[in-house]
Amino acid sequence: MSGCFRIRTYGCQMNVHDSDKVSNLLYHHRWREAPGEEEADLLVINTCSIREKAENQLYSDLGALRSWKHAAPARVLGVGGCVAQQEGDALLRRFPHLDFVFGTHNLTRVPAMVEAARGGGREARTEESRSLARFELPERHPDYPGPTPGRAFVTVMEGCDMFCSFCIVPRTRGREISRPAAGILAEVEDLAGRGVREITLLGQTVNAYGRHAARRERSANAGTLPFAALLWRLAGTPGIERIRYTSPHPLFFDDELIAAHGELAALCPHVHLPAQSGSDRILARMRRRYGAADFLRIAAALRRARPDIALTTDLIVGFPGETEADFRATLELVREVRFTDAFSFKYSPRPGTPATEDAAGAVPPECAQERLVELQTLQRELTLAAHRARVGSRTEVLLEGPSRRGATQLMGRDPYHRVVNLDAAEAGLEPSAGAGRLVAVEIVEATPHSLIGAPAWLRGDSPPEPSLKAFGG
Ligand code: SAM
Ligand code: SF4
Repeated sequence: MSGCFRIRTYGCQMNVHDSDKVSNLLYHHRWREAPGEEEADLLVINTCSIREKAENQLYSDLGALRSWKHAAPARVLGVGGCVAQQEGDALLRRFPHLDFVFGTHNLTRVPAMVEAARGGGREARTEESRSLARFELPERHPDYPGPTPGRAFVTVMEGCDMFCSFCIVPRTRGREISRPAAGILAEVEDLAGRGVREITLLGQTVNAYGRHAARRERSANAGTLPFAALLWRLAGTPGIERIRYTSPHPLFFDDELIAAHGELAALCPHVHLPAQSGSDRILARMRRRYGAADFLRIAAALRRARPDIALTTDLIVGFPGETEADFRATLELVREVRFTDAFSFKYSPRPGTPATEDAAGAVPPECAQERLVELQTLQRELTLAAHRARVGSRTEVLLEGPSRRGATQLMGRDPYHRVVNLDAAEAGLEPSAGAGRLVAVEIVEATPHSLIGAPAWLRGDSPPEPSLKAFGG
């Protein structure tokens, strides 16, 4: 064994998945996961720079980790992800106790960089690549358990060519590139063989999958399919019961994708559809390439295809130039769509993005804060109402592990991506052993953040065995 490692991950699902890929690569190089950072010989921080606060987190972490590094001279400290891509070797100059820096296109270099660091080397690798080779990663190592039994993320595309005026992603993740369908299908088959029942397809604009190849008339070497066709193909993989995708962009919802939500049983009835704003003026300044009416049309079409679909979203308040009327338009959109949940953020200026140049339009921080509170208050009411409407209904929960609600509780997600908590003893499971199982439940209570379920067979009309399916052996 080479040693023990830990990875601290910040940011979106792409980062969570990148950390998973790095963990697997390290397992292939005889590294194993340490129980905690104090026991680790190698610590990797996978960073996020989507907002200033996330970026500052790295600087405070690195300051605090001086003592971790100096406690044992052989320890290795590395930084990856979006801040690494942005800052490169400036990080090495600023933090002498940092050993290596790897950008978002350089994950496969990590094992070699760690070895070099052990020999005293210090380097930053942040070259961008447009090669499909980055999708060629080793299969999951037999000893690597993966992050969550029963569920897995699968990368279908990387990068982003949309250049929304507020967003740093095209600068940290590079140009949009779609993975050949053959590799995606093979990975999903492999995952299904290891007991995975739920897959989430990942991409910054995931439903734009294959669009550049489509423009080149699906050139033979690109090997992509239209996104809806990819979903249909994946749904045919034996063992895959749930398919999700995130994040789609409103611009790329075609009729086939909308229809798939009504026709494809494995496609979960939940779409995370980022709106960002309800004001056409602000959407234009954001360079989102749709208006509020387009967004409402897509939401309505999805509901026609799948009436019970849960829609969630991302929203930004305090974007430069946002007036009170623009903000009211966002509240109006939220009321009209009745999102089940939303991530809402105050606009954060990001280096090199066009929106930062609009200093004259800057919204005072107190005003942005007030808007955020008002928006979140509205969304909390809508979320609670959506949760209450579920009480008395039946659903199926894929368990993820112990719940935050207490040592005797388990948590999982239903097909609508809602968190459902249930009593482990009622489900006949140990709180530490439930992950990866599917349990049929009845929703018995709604809270603002989650649902409470009771195993359905306890209601007397469904026997325990068929309603409890164990995954992964
Ligand atoms: N690709 C997704 C899309 O097109 O909506 C979004 C990906 S981004 C990682 C996640 C969310 O962060 C965005 O939807 C947006 O709401 C938020 N975000 C991005 N840049 C931001 C900024 N400069 N300030 C505040 N929020 C931001
Ligand atoms: Fe950022 Fe816009 Fe690309 Fe989403 S679509 S990642 S918000 S640039």
